[in-house]
Amino acid sequence: MRLVSYVSSDGSPSVGILEDDAVRETGIGSLFDVVSMPSDDLSALAATALSGTVIPLSDVRLEAPLRPRKNVFAVGRNYLEHVRERPGADAASRPPPEVPIIFSKPPTSIIGPGEAIDTSNDPSSTTDYEGELAVVIGTGGKRIERERAMDHVFGYTLLNDVTAREYQRSHGQWLMGKGPDTFCPLGPCVLTADEVPDVTALSIETRVNDELRQSGSLSQLIFDIPTLISTISSVMTLDPGDVIATGTPSGVGAFLDPPKFLQPGDVVSVTVEEIGTLTNPVV
Ligand code: MG
Repeated sequence: MRLVSYVSSDGSPSVGILEDDAVRETGIGSLFDVVSMPSDDLSALAATALSGTVIPLSDVRLEAPLRPRKNVFAVGRNYLEHVRERPGADAASRPPPEVPIIFSKPPTSIIGPGEAIDTSNDPSSTTDYEGELAVVIGTGGKRIERERAMDHVFGYTLLNDVTAREYQRSHGQWLMGKGPDTFCPLGPCVLTADEVPDVTALSIETRVNDELRQSGSLSQLIFDIPTLISTISSVMTLDPGDVIATGTPSGVGAFLDPPKFLQPGDVVSVTVEEIGTLTNPVV
């Protein structure tokens, strides 16, 4: 199932099942109520929705599938080609990180599909894109073993880890660079894990104004999804609905020659064919 959050005609929040160009009503108000469901209830939801109302996609406004109650987890330098694209004498031989570089983005940075990335929140004018696959946690847990980690994955969505590059560099810690309002586009839907037999088979692409900038495979992750889940949960609790972004492939704007930062008027899109495309204008 591809699940979306949308605002219905009466203004209330709703969860729907995305079909080709339509949304099927589920009668549920929040994706948080779905991510915690036992799989039998999830199957029943899908079956019940088959007799529900279908709304043309053009008649609804999609929102971010969910807004976690705490920061979105993210991982830096998780594709080797991205590790080595930063210019420097050691670039070609630069080693991968020894442990996952975990950072976070606040809930206030999250926007939905179609909403604008606001570059006025980056006074350094070095706003950059990072297309990423994101994991949505179903069953929470602490000290989740790597071998059982995939049992805790509810599904997958797309995330643009928009970054104020100069703030990321100059502030030492990354939060100022990663946390500005609107710098975490999320969506357009959550593809449930039962429809993804092998997440490493997925490919991801990022485009700016239809120009292909990033192209990667989830098989290239330095630290795979089970490792990210076991690493984070080794010291802190993962809750239902938590989001973990898995890192970005090479091709970010900052390391192009010359650099190409996002400008008002640009449109950025992140695509994983099985999930869809997350598109956001830049203002
Ligand atoms: Mg990133």
